[in-house]
Amino acid sequence: MSENNDNIDEIEKVEQDPKKEQNPNPEEYEKICFLCRRPESKTGPMIDLPNHIHICTDCMQKSFDTMQNSNIDYNAMMNMPNINMMDLSSLQNQIPQQKIKKKKPKETKEEKKILNIRDIPAPHKIKASLDEYVIGQEQAKKVISVAVYNHYKRICSENMAGVEMDTTALSNVEIEKSNMLLIGPTGCGKTYLVQTLAKLLDVPLAITDATSLTEAGYIGDDIESVVSKLLAAADNDVERAEHGIIFIDEIDKIAKKKNTNQRDVSGEAVQQGMLKLLEGSEVEVPVGSNSKNAMVPLKTVNTRNILFICGGAFPDLTDIIKERLNKEASIGFRADLKDKYDKEPNLLQKVVVEDLRNFGMVPEFIGRLPIICTMESLTTEMLVQVLREPKNAILKQYQKLLSLDEVKLEFDQGALEAIAKLAMERATGARALRAILEEFMLDIMYEIPKDSNIGEVIITKEYIEHVGGPRILLRGQGLLEG
Ligand code: ADP
Repeated sequence: MSENNDNIDEIEKVEQDPKKEQNPNPEEYEKICFLCRRPESKTGPMIDLPNHIHICTDCMQKSFDTMQNSNIDYNAMMNMPNINMMDLSSLQNQIPQQKIKKKKPKETKEEKKILNIRDIPAPHKIKASLDEYVIGQEQAKKVISVAVYNHYKRICSENMAGVEMDTTALSNVEIEKSNMLLIGPTGCGKTYLVQTLAKLLDVPLAITDATSLTEAGYIGDDIESVVSKLLAAADNDVERAEHGIIFIDEIDKIAKKKNTNQRDVSGEAVQQGMLKLLEGSEVEVPVGSNSKNAMVPLKTVNTRNILFICGGAFPDLTDIIKERLNKEASIGFRADLKDKYDKEPNLLQKVVVEDLRNFGMVPEFIGRLPIICTMESLTTEMLVQVLREPKNAILKQYQKLLSLDEVKLEFDQGALEAIAKLAMERATGARALRAILEEFMLDIMYEIPKDSNIGEVIITKEYIEHVGGPRILLRGQGLLEG
């Protein structure tokens, strides 16, 4: 019923709009039944009568049925005085043509993109794009660009198997999967790097926290829920999900617990459970839910071509590395000073599989993450760059916000350095920057819209150090000390 009403509304709109009347495009409109007012898309083909009258087959049938079932003698009626049969032609031009705009057919899904080797940007291009967003981390950006390039090349080579490489001796060589482990302190850009990468490559990405995972059957998320998240990120398109990236953060938190007699359901067991995912297996995942139950439909996803990137801060790993290096250095005729590595700045870069094993990672697990990449902690200078330079830099965001009030926002170099210094003290990397800026910008964002004469605000070092205020320029070029 309500549908019919909607249709009537639409019909009336079409009729009232004179412009549309003048230039009707017959293909855009559909006929409406003169009796039941339903459009042709609902009733099926209609019977056309003179004067733009259309009757749907249902109504026509009903009319015939009524005529047959009633006992009226129509022939007799024809000859009765004062009764005229309706002459349809007399209606000519009295009834406006009734038609309704055809609903646009729902857009068909874009043709499924088949990964093409020529569509994958070369590693230097991937890195150049990452440079626009991520400050520093040169080595990590290089490693990840090459790894991702090779990963997608591997998928393409599988798709092309037997087509182009038939004749070469390499046709039977299977390229192995190259999952990755990113090691770096908190706030150095691990998640951000992977996020940017997925955006650039236009592949679905799922980010999960290893701490929430537990062995199947225990409280917490099942390990397979990470694939379920990826499927959701790919709009439940299994094929797209199978080429996606899964980033598992805080992987160091699932290290084997030392000195425990209890069953380690969130540590070692999770590592064991992840082995088959990392390697590649068929997983039945619930669609649109984190847990399997009878009410949720399941889809099978193959994880063979999913790129797994694990990330973690691995605190205390430097001590393990130092211990090993010191031990190595003190043995044999190349024996060195015992405390040689105590002040080594880039100790993390010297990590080897053995160190990770000592940290508590299961050898099979590490074995499935062949690319190990370390990231450096951000220095004060880098933090200043993070504030100012990335495409979506925090400063640019504030500048945009104030520009909507037609106010220019500038930061002194000294102010930026002071903010970076404050962030360094918090020891959470670039994460601290936004929180600090938010504190200082609160007053500015509150006060500026009050006075429409203000044309420019300059944040000074003094303001950040709480010994002065920001410089404020009025629209007429006058300077006010805030
Ligand atoms: P983590 O290494 O702990 O995963 P994140 O990647 O989540 O840290 O970083 C937090 C935020 O800090 C990011 O959203 C990003 O805005 C910023 N950030 C961190 N490192 C960098 C970097 N190297 N370049 C630019 N921005 C960064």
